[in-house]
Amino acid sequence: MSDTTFLEYVVFFSAAVMILGGAIGVITLKNPVHAALGLVLTLFGVAVQFVAMEAQFLAAVQVIVYAGAIVVLFLFVIMLLGVDESIDLSIEPIPIQRPLAAVMAVGLARRWSLWRQKKPAGLEGDWQGLKTSLLAHRDILRRPSVGGAHLAAFWGVVIPLIVIILVQFGFIIPHAPANLLSLIQDLAGIALLIGTLLLLVRRLGSADAQGPSRTLLPMILMLVILVSGFLAEGARLSILRADGFAWPSPMGWFFSLISPASPIFMQMMIRLHFFAVLFFIAAIPFTFMRHAVASPLNVFYRKQGARAALTHPSIESGEIGARTVNDLSWKQMLDADACVACGRCDEHCPAAISGKPLSPRKIIQNIRRQMETVSADQKHLRNTPDAPLLENAVSADEMWACTSCMACVEHCPVAIEPLDKIIDMRRYQVMGEARLPAEARPMIRDLDLYGDVQGKGVAHRADWAMNRGVSELFQTSSQPESEVEMLLWVGCSGAFHPRNQETSRAMVKILNAAGIRFAILGKEELCCGDPARRLGDEILFRKLARANIERLERYQVKKIVTLCPHCLNTLKNDYPELGCKLDVIHATELVADLIRDQRIALKYPVADKIAIHDACYLGRYNQVYQPPRDICRAVPGTRLKETARNRDSGFCCGGGGGRMWLHENIGQNINVVRAEEMAHTDVDLIGTACPYCLVMLDDGVKSLELEKTPKVADIIDIVADAMG
Ligand code: SF4
Ligand code: SF4
Repeated sequence: MSDTTFLEYVVFFSAAVMILGGAIGVITLKNPVHAALGLVLTLFGVAVQFVAMEAQFLAAVQVIVYAGAIVVLFLFVIMLLGVDESIDLSIEPIPIQRPLAAVMAVGLARRWSLWRQKKPAGLEGDWQGLKTSLLAHRDILRRPSVGGAHLAAFWGVVIPLIVIILVQFGFIIPHAPANLLSLIQDLAGIALLIGTLLLLVRRLGSADAQGPSRTLLPMILMLVILVSGFLAEGARLSILRADGFAWPSPMGWFFSLISPASPIFMQMMIRLHFFAVLFFIAAIPFTFMRHAVASPLNVFYRKQGARAALTHPSIESGEIGARTVNDLSWKQMLDADACVACGRCDEHCPAAISGKPLSPRKIIQNIRRQMETVSADQKHLRNTPDAPLLENAVSADEMWACTSCMACVEHCPVAIEPLDKIIDMRRYQVMGEARLPAEARPMIRDLDLYGDVQGKGVAHRADWAMNRGVSELFQTSSQPESEVEMLLWVGCSGAFHPRNQETSRAMVKILNAAGIRFAILGKEELCCGDPARRLGDEILFRKLARANIERLERYQVKKIVTLCPHCLNTLKNDYPELGCKLDVIHATELVADLIRDQRIALKYPVADKIAIHDACYLGRYNQVYQPPRDICRAVPGTRLKETARNRDSGFCCGGGGGRMWLHENIGQNINVVRAEEMAHTDVDLIGTACPYCLVMLDDGVKSLELEKTPKVADIIDIVADAMG
C-alpha cells in the first residue's frame, strides 16, 4: 500500500466516522449546531479531497482538508463524551488512553517482529553514537537549516514529555521552579511550533511527490496539539483575567489576547489537545512518525568495526544475495523503517547527479513498501515464499548504476546504508540468476582464468619491475638475513596498466630512497578480488582472496603498503572475515610519514596550484584524507587548493563498484562531471591517490573542450618528480 493510498484511507475513514458521528450528534446531543457544522465541514473535506485527487492540486489543499477533518473528528469525540461547563483547569482522565496506548503497543510490536528476525543475539549497541546523534543532532545538523528545525522540534517534544512524566508520577514541583519550568515548556512549545512549520513548509516544497503526503498527517496532528494547547492556556489566562504580561507563559499570554474567556472553550481545547496527543502517540507505528523509534534504534545499532566491510554471506547455506525482502537482514529492514526520506543520499549520489535512474532514497523507500506488503499479507516474513521480487522495485539500470562510492552512507543522518542492499541485490543477480552485465563478463572471465582484470596472466605480473632491482618474496624468503620490512602490494592496475605502472616505479624509487627493505609477491600476486566482489560475484572473490591469503600466510607477511585504495580496502577490511588480519596502509600514509621524518626530501616544484581528488575508497571508506594534503603542502612552490566537493563530500570518479568495466549509457559520464568541476578550480595539476581515479579523471579532463586544462597525476608520481 503506497503512502498516498494510506493517507487517502485515513482521510476517508475519518470522514466516514465524522458523518456517522454527525448523524448521531444531530439526533442525540445537546448541541446540534456543532454537529451540523461538523457535517458540513466533513462533506466539504471529502469533496475537496476528490477534486484535489482529480486535479492533482498542490499538497497545500490537502493540508487544509486534513487539518479540518482532524479538528472536526476531535470536536465530535469531545461532544460525544460531553462537556462540563464548570471551570475546571485540570485534564480529566478520559477512557481512551488505554485503547490508544494498546494501538501503539500493537503497532510497535508488529514492527519489532519484522526487525528482530535474524537479529544476532547479544548484539552490542553504540550508546555514545546514540547520544551525539540524538541529543546533539550531530549528523542532522550537517544541514544547519533543516537540522536546526528538527533540533527545535525534538527538544520541543522531549522537554514537555519529561514534565508530563514527572507530574504523572506525582512529582510535586515547588512554586518558583514550577514557574521556571512553565517558561521552559512554553519556550519548548514555541521551538516545536517553529520547527514543525519550517519542516512542513520544506516538505510541501519538496519536488518528490511522496515527500509531502507521507509526512502531512503527523505534522498536522502536531500543529493541532500545539495550537490547541496554546489556546487552552490563553483561555485560562483570559478567564483568570491575569493582568499584564505572564512571563512563565509568554505564548499563552499572546494567545490570551485572542482566546475567549470561556470555560467551555477552554475545556474543549484541553480535550482536543489531549486527544490529539493520544492519537499522535497511537499513530506513531503506522505513519512517518515511526522514525521517532526506528531512527534512534538504527543509529544505536549502526555498523560497528570497519564501516567499509561488506557482509560475508554463508554461500554454503544458500545465502546468495537478496531475491526478496525475506533475504534482507534484520538491520536492513530496520534501515528501511528508519528512513525519513530527507533525500540527502540522492543529493550526494554521483549516479543520481549525473542523470542515472539511481536514487538511494527511492531504493530504501521501495524496500519499505515491499516489507509492508509482505508483512500485511503474511504476518511473518519468513513464511512468505511468494514475496515480490526486489527486482520489481529496483530496476537493473538502478542496481548497476551504483559506483559503491558510499556517499549515501556517509551523508545519511540516521545511519542507513543503501549500498549494502544494492550489493546484496547484485549478488543475487550474479550468483542466483547469472545476470551480470555483458560488458563486465570478459573481465570476470579473465579474473577467473588468469587472476587479473586484464587477462595478461601471472607470468607477466612483475614485468613492470624488470631491471629495477625489486625483490620478490619467494627470493627473499630463502635469505633470512634480508629481512623484509613490508610487502608492496601492486594490484592489477599497478602491474599492467601503462599509466599506473609508472606510479609503481615511482613508489619503488621512493622506497629505495628511504632505505625501506621491501618486496613484492610478483608472479604470486593475484587480483585482491575487489571488482568481483563489488559486482556481486562473491564466489570468485573468495577464490581469489583464499589464494592470496594462502601466499601471504606462507611468507608470514605482517605489513603491506599499497598504491590502490581498492586493494587497501579489500586487504584491510574484507580479508579479516576470511581469517587474514594484516597491517595494511596506503602509499600516501607511508610517504607522508617519510617526508615528516625527513627520510626523503622534496626539492623541486612540480606545479603552481594543485587540487586533490579524494578517492572514495581511501577517504570515505578508510578515512585517509590528510596524508595526500600533507604531501602536496610539502612540495616546494606548490599551493594546495580545495575543490567545492572534497573530503567526505568528495565526488566519485565513476570507476568504483565494478563500473570501470561498465558502459555509461544514461546521463552524463561521472568522470566528465568531476573533471569539469576540477578543471574550473583554477589549478595546474590534479593530484589523485588511486589508479582508477587517475585513469578516469585523465580521460575526463582530455574530453573537456577547454583552452587550458590541468594535468592529472598520482601523488606518488608527484613526490618522485619533486625528489628529482
Ligand atoms: S536513506 Fe538516509 S539520507 Fe537517504 S532519504 Fe533516507 S534518511 Fe535521508
Ligand atoms: S554508493 Fe554512491 S553511487 Fe551507490 S547509491 Fe550510494 S551514493 Fe549512489
